[in-house]
Amino acid sequence: MSIAIYPGSFDPITNGHKDIIDRASRVFDKVVVSVLENPRKVPLFSIEERVEMLKIVSQNYDNVEVDSFQGLLIEYARQKNAKIIVKGLRAISDFEFEFQMALINRKLDSRVETMFMMTNSRYSYLSSSIVKEVGLFGGDICELVPNEVYNIIMRRIRETRTAQS
Ligand code: ADP
Repeated sequence: MSIAIYPGSFDPITNGHKDIIDRASRVFDKVVVSVLENPRKVPLFSIEERVEMLKIVSQNYDNVEVDSFQGLLIEYARQKNAKIIVKGLRAISDFEFEFQMALINRKLDSRVETMFMMTNSRYSYLSSSIVKEVGLFGGDICELVPNEVYNIIMRRIRETRTAQS
């Protein structure tokens, strides 16, 4: 059985992430979408909120599980019995970092393969940071994030804008 981990910050999930989840779920037997707890970033949403939004978006996929983790990705992949790490690639700018991560992960465990999915051209400009930036400056993010979680995201953006003003 092919089990793939799709790791990320997902702060918050965007349509670009949803597209990768959808495509990965058709390629692998099981996809574990996992929120990485990154102590270096100050998030807009807690880990629990991000997990909840991912669960809402992937509820119709039988083979998608949502989870969170901290520490070494390769260690986590072992725990989940996953031999594949799935990453999305948007642009050349993603490449350098992802190349380094894929090589270090292979060095740590050569049985785990990193596989890349090219972004859907409709979402190539999309990142969680862009969504937050547009939203916090009052722009419309309706077409950038999944409909199912739009209200949850907008509520936090409004709260944050009120707190900042
Ligand atoms: P970001 O904050 O840049 O959206 P994440 O850590 O949440 O980053 O991204 C998780 C994974 O999803 C990464 O592999 C990233 O390359 C991929 N990804 C993010 N946005 C897109 C997109 N628009 N198209 C394809 N892959 C994407």
